[in-house]
Amino acid sequence: MISWRRRHRFCGSCGATTLPAKGGHVLVCTNPACRHEQFPRLDPAIIVLVSDGERALLGRQASWPVGRYSTIAGFVEPGESLEMRWLVRYWRKRGSKSMPSSTIPRSRGRSRPR
Ligand SMILES: [Zn+2]
Repeated sequence: MISWRRRHRFCGSCGATTLPAKGGHVLVCTNPACRHEQFPRLDPAIIVLVSDGERALLGRQASWPVGRYSTIAGFVEPGESLEMRWLVRYWRKRGSKSMPSSTIPRSRGRSRPR
C-alpha cells in the first residue's frame, strides 16, 4: 500500500494531486471537476490443499531446496475461473501435460487450459 500510494500521488485522468480516502484504500483526485478514484491493483490467487483424508497432494518447484514442498497455489488470470486455475495446477503437480477432457468444467470465461 505504501508503494502504491507513493506511485499514485497524481490523478491519472487530469494530473491533479490525489489524497487518501476511506481508510487509505482509495486515492481521490483533489480536482473538484474530476474526483477520479484510484484503487490498488489486486491479483487474485488460490491456495488449495488436496487431501484424501490421510494424505495430501503437494508439489515443488525444481529450484527449491531438497525436501521443500507446498500445497497447490497459483495466480488466477483474467477471464479464468478459480476452479479452472485449481484444475490446471492439480494436473501439472501430478506430472500430467494435459487434463482429461472430462475434468474440464464449464466456465463463463476462457474454457480451455493452456
Ligand atoms: Zn483528476
